[in-house]
Amino acid sequence: MRDRPGRPRIGPLAVRTRALSRLRFAALSTQCHMQIRVLGCSGSIAAGSRTTSFLLGGDVLIDAGTGVGDLTLDEMLRIDHIVVTHSHLDHVLAIGLLADSVTRRRRAAGRPAIGVHALPETIAALRAHVFNGVIWPDFSRLPDPEHPVLRFHPVAVGDRLELGRHRLEVLPARHTVPAVGYAVFGAAGAWVFTGDTGPNPALWRRLAQMPVAQLVIETAFGDDERVLAGISQHLCPALLAEELKHLAGPTEVCITHIKPGEVAAVMGEIAALGLPHKVRALATGDLIELGEAAQAAEAPLRAAAD
Ligand SMILES: [Zn+2]
Ligand SMILES: [Zn+2]
Repeated sequence: MRDRPGRPRIGPLAVRTRALSRLRFAALSTQCHMQIRVLGCSGSIAAGSRTTSFLLGGDVLIDAGTGVGDLTLDEMLRIDHIVVTHSHLDHVLAIGLLADSVTRRRRAAGRPAIGVHALPETIAALRAHVFNGVIWPDFSRLPDPEHPVLRFHPVAVGDRLELGRHRLEVLPARHTVPAVGYAVFGAAGAWVFTGDTGPNPALWRRLAQMPVAQLVIETAFGDDERVLAGISQHLCPALLAEELKHLAGPTEVCITHIKPGEVAAVMGEIAALGLPHKVRALATGDLIELGEAAQAAEAPLRAAAD
């Protein structure tokens, strides 16, 4: 798969459909290139390090870590959907702050609620522990319950989401709390984000059925903390190597969720593995562009039929 430059486009008002027809999903998935801006890809914060958040095409956030705070207000106003991998703070902390920043302007413009798409357990955790009136106001009922700025939508592994012009699939993840990853389908194939996960056989079974243009996979710990990686259901380089053996062939692999100050050490350990893949560390500010390519057209359809 090749990367080609492209320009972001803003899709029509986004609609999510759980029962999107497989044929239509496959057809629409092949119509556009995709552009993903890395707002944050660090395991924690420090100057220059921001936690997980990707901006897909300007209107869909994939996780809402501290990187969201680098967006201008106008950029925040263009976000109509947030897909969330799991309830951990480094992935959700900016949902409520973003809502607060845009509430007045969205209301004045008559814009609908921002859709927050997550597992039911994640939504329950957000309601109980964040949007509870103690940690933060309940923006799923503000500025008024009939026209809130946030609206939660439950998802399940295997769901296909149609968000504006974007086509996503919810992927399995294995973490200390219920968690998922996401695939985004485009003409070049699928951009795959594992989310936070330990060893994840179900993910590899699914990825064997789709053309992976680029894999963004976490490696949260160095090998010296392998025990901690196991306890916290994350990966370290040794575990990463075992996981990547499941890829069908050489693949473009981007490493995410390394802790501040540990990028060189972790990437050094990964380099020493001699993996057959093109591996690099993701960096805040990266712009991922997956352009048009050939024959991916039927792949999502084939996968959907499995
Ligand atoms: Zn986590
Ligand atoms: Zn995390």
